Amino acid sequence: MSNSITFRGGVHPLHGVHEGKAATCGQAVIDYTAETVTIQMGMHLGAPSTPTVQVGDHVKLGQQIADPVGFLGLPVHASVSGEVIAVGPVQTILNPAAMAVTIKNDFKDEWVDGLEPLGDVETAPVEKIIPAIKNAGICGMGGASFPTHVKFAVKEGQYCDTIVLNGAECETHLTCDHRLMLEQSKRIVDGLRAAMRALDVKKGIIAIEDNKPDAIEAMRRAAAGREGVEVMPLMTKYPQGGEKQLIQVVTGREVPTKKLPLDVHVIVLNVGTAKAIADAVIEGKPVISRVTTVTGHVNRPSNLRVRIGTMADDLIAACGGISIPEDQVGKIVMGGAMTGFPFPNTTHIPLAKGNNGVVVYSEAEAVDYEEDPCIRCGRCVEACPIGLNPFKLKYFCDAGDMKRAGEWCVMDCVVCGSCSYICPAHRRLTASFKAMKDKIAAEARKGKG
Ligand code: SF4
Ligand code: SF4
Repeated sequence: MSNSITFRGGVHPLHGVHEGKAATCGQAVIDYTAETVTIQMGMHLGAPSTPTVQVGDHVKLGQQIADPVGFLGLPVHASVSGEVIAVGPVQTILNPAAMAVTIKNDFKDEWVDGLEPLGDVETAPVEKIIPAIKNAGICGMGGASFPTHVKFAVKEGQYCDTIVLNGAECETHLTCDHRLMLEQSKRIVDGLRAAMRALDVKKGIIAIEDNKPDAIEAMRRAAAGREGVEVMPLMTKYPQGGEKQLIQVVTGREVPTKKLPLDVHVIVLNVGTAKAIADAVIEGKPVISRVTTVTGHVNRPSNLRVRIGTMADDLIAACGGISIPEDQVGKIVMGGAMTGFPFPNTTHIPLAKGNNGVVVYSEAEAVDYEEDPCIRCGRCVEACPIGLNPFKLKYFCDAGDMKRAGEWCVMDCVVCGSCSYICPAHRRLTASFKAMKDKIAAEARKGKG
């Protein structure tokens, strides 16, 4: 039975044919390795890493190719073995000139020497687990890309009593976490247990929407007999996988405005992040690959295990290419329909650690409606899981009024898209909030906000 407690607001766009998951959820993950990879230095939230390799260098699989910078910094590793053929700026999904290292794959998959596996997660030295997570370059694999070792930095006076693994995968189209839970269930539980031991946490909850009964069953089998670990089915509702919503549903605790999960003694990790933690602890391996969903109008919708830095156009080609005429393609999105980012004007863009999907939409599916005037129906207010007033907030955001937008809590918006989805006037609410959040964050960085 699912947890009957639910969060306020939310929408139900994701049932039946509209959720777009049917094409890939039943297919096993396939390995795909590209001829070249372009590995971004800024895949995590925080300052981009500094490349330590030059054109012409030969690198081994898992070799560190960039040093961390600053408090949120993470090292970056080669996702293939081969020759470095470029170090310089490339177009990424949000940045036209992001620093990256391009490696021509020699297909030898020769691992770097000196990996330091800690062995079984139940006996690995506790004090070595968080350093291993940092050295492996792990950041949130569900899309947020926050450095995991920083999430684990529990300050004096704080404590964590529960770690929640997010297996909700409430976004449309994406099934990579679903497949991971079916195919790597033990590794995911191992990652959870490693995290629990690192932080001396006694309770680990794996939360999965009830539209994935096979994943619930697989994770229950894997969790059987593991200390402090339980699986909790959740009602299927968007954005069930939002961090604050998940905490509320699973623990009954509400994360106050401007506060973090640790303020209510909880840490949330994506199931893919847990798998990466297990790989780092058990085998000493850094993040070199991830599972990503490639679907929509492609000839062979698939879940692919791909090396970090694989170009999105290579992924589409690996799935048989686009299945509709070019002039019928509406947009191509990195991620799902609710929170994904449209590719700018090219899909020759590299996959980062947090990128969980590439979806091709037809023109008919990607209709960009004109905004109509707000009719004050209040549906956006009902849908907002945070309790914001989107129609009023949009007024201040569109007027560029940072002060009033801040007072109306724009920074609490989790950019879930529920308000835009439900709005009968097709108001571009979420886009306005995201733009304002970015503006306020940029001002804060400049010390003016
Ligand atoms: S849902 Fe759209 S039309 Fe209704 S109040 Fe909100 S912004 Fe206005
Ligand atoms: S996008 Fe922001 S304002 Fe809109 S429903 Fe989600 S949290 Fe609320």
